[in-house]
Amino acid sequence: MDIGFYNNEVINIKSLLLSTEDKDNAIDRYRKIAEKGHITCPFCMEKLYLRAGDVRDIHLAHRRGRTCQIAKAYDTYQAQVTRENKRHSVIKEIIYTDLKGQERFKTDLRVKYGYEEKGHESWKHYPDIYLNKNGREFAICLITNIHEIGDTKIVNLINKRNKYFVDKGLETIWFIEERELAYDYDHRVLFLWEAEYGLAIKTKEDREWDKLVKDLIEEFPNVSVTDLFGYRSYGSLDIDVRSLYYVHSEGNNITISTHRIILDRKKSPYRAYALTKGYKQNISYALIVEDEILLCDQEIEEKARLEFANEVAFRVDELMNYTLDESELIVTVGESIEYRTEETSKTTDLKEDHDRRFSIDEDTLSEVLVVDIDFTDYLLKVKRRTITVAEARQLNHYVRLNKGELIHYGFTIQALSKIIDESIGRIDDPAIRTWLVDIQYL
Ligand SMILES: [Zn+2]
Repeated sequence: MDIGFYNNEVINIKSLLLSTEDKDNAIDRYRKIAEKGHITCPFCMEKLYLRAGDVRDIHLAHRRGRTCQIAKAYDTYQAQVTRENKRHSVIKEIIYTDLKGQERFKTDLRVKYGYEEKGHESWKHYPDIYLNKNGREFAICLITNIHEIGDTKIVNLINKRNKYFVDKGLETIWFIEERELAYDYDHRVLFLWEAEYGLAIKTKEDREWDKLVKDLIEEFPNVSVTDLFGYRSYGSLDIDVRSLYYVHSEGNNITISTHRIILDRKKSPYRAYALTKGYKQNISYALIVEDEILLCDQEIEEKARLEFANEVAFRVDELMNYTLDESELIVTVGESIEYRTEETSKTTDLKEDHDRRFSIDEDTLSEVLVVDIDFTDYLLKVKRRTITVAEARQLNHYVRLNKGELIHYGFTIQALSKIIDESIGRIDDPAIRTWLVDIQYL
C-alpha cells in the first residue's frame, strides 16, 4: 500500500518520494527508517517495510505473509479508483470531512471510509464513504470522468458496483462530476449517459414529487402532464420520480446540484423528463443528515413543486379553453375525441388516456384535431417524397393517436418506419424529416 503512519501522521510514501529531488538517497533513508520500526500500518499499527523497484512501484508492506485485512481492503479500493480523475479524491475528502464533522454531535451517526468499515468482510468493491444512520447503511459513491461512461465496460462496472452495494444491504447515493451535465429545460429534457440510469436514486423528497405528479394526473385525467411541456417520451412514463446529484467544483468551492427526473425508457439517446431545472447548494448544506442525507433544500423543493403544479394547471387551462372556429372542427378520431359546444367556446373532451400525446402550441392545435387523414394517400406522399410539413405533422399525430388501428391498413409501425427510412435520405426539409423520424419512435 502507499500509506503508512510516520512521525504522528499518515504519509503517502509514493507522493512523498516522487516530490523529492534526490530520490535514490531518499529511498534508502526511508527504507532504514522503516526497518528501525518507525513506519507502521495506520490500521493494525504493525511495522511496515519499504519495498522499491522502480520509483513508481514503491510501496509499504507488512512483514511477508502478514498483511492485515484493512490494508488489503485499502489496496482493493485504491485499484478501484485508478480510473477517476484528480478531483475525485479532493471532493471525496471534502465530503468525508463534512460528514465526520456532523458525526461529533449526532450520536446515531457513524461515518467511515468504505474500506475501513467493510474491509474485515473482504468486499470486492468499496464505497468511497460509508455512513450509518441509526442502523440504516449508506454507500456514498463519487464518479468522475463521466464522459467515458458511453463505454459499455464502464456502464457495466458502475451497474455491477451499485448492485453489489445494494445486495449488501446498503442504500446507494451517487454523486456525478458535473462536466457532462446537459439539459434542455424548455422541453424538460435531461440528457443522460446510459450509466446515469443506475445512479438516479430515490429519496424522501422524490416520494413527495411522486405524490404531486400523481395528484396532478388525477386532477387532469385528460392530458398527459409530461406532454404539456412538449417532452417527447419513448412511450408512457412510469411515475417514479428520482434524483440525480452532480458535483461542481471550482477551486475549493464545491457545490451539489439536485435534479428531479422521471427516467424515460432505457434507449439511446438516453434521456429523462426533468421536473426541475436543478439548483446548486453549498456542499455542507446538501449533506445534512437527518433520517437520510437531505441533499436538498426543502424550502426550494416545496416552491418548485408549487410552481410545477401551477404551470401544469396554466397549460391545461390554455389547452382546454382554446377557442376554435366552427370550420376547424372537421373530423373526430373514431370516438376517442368529442367536441362540445359551450356558448361561445368549444372545449375538447378527450378520453381518459394519460398516454395520449399531442402538441399544444396554437399553430398546431387545429391540425392536431384534424387527424382523419387518408392514410394510404399520405404513405404514397412519403414514398414519392411529395409530403409537405403540414402533412408530415398530420401523419405524425394520426399515427400517434391511432397506433392500434394501423393494422386495419395491413400496417405496423415497423413497416411504416421502413418506408420512412427509405425516403428520408432524399427529403431535404428538416421540419419534414423531424416529424417523420419522430414517428419511428412511437
Ligand atoms: Zn496492517
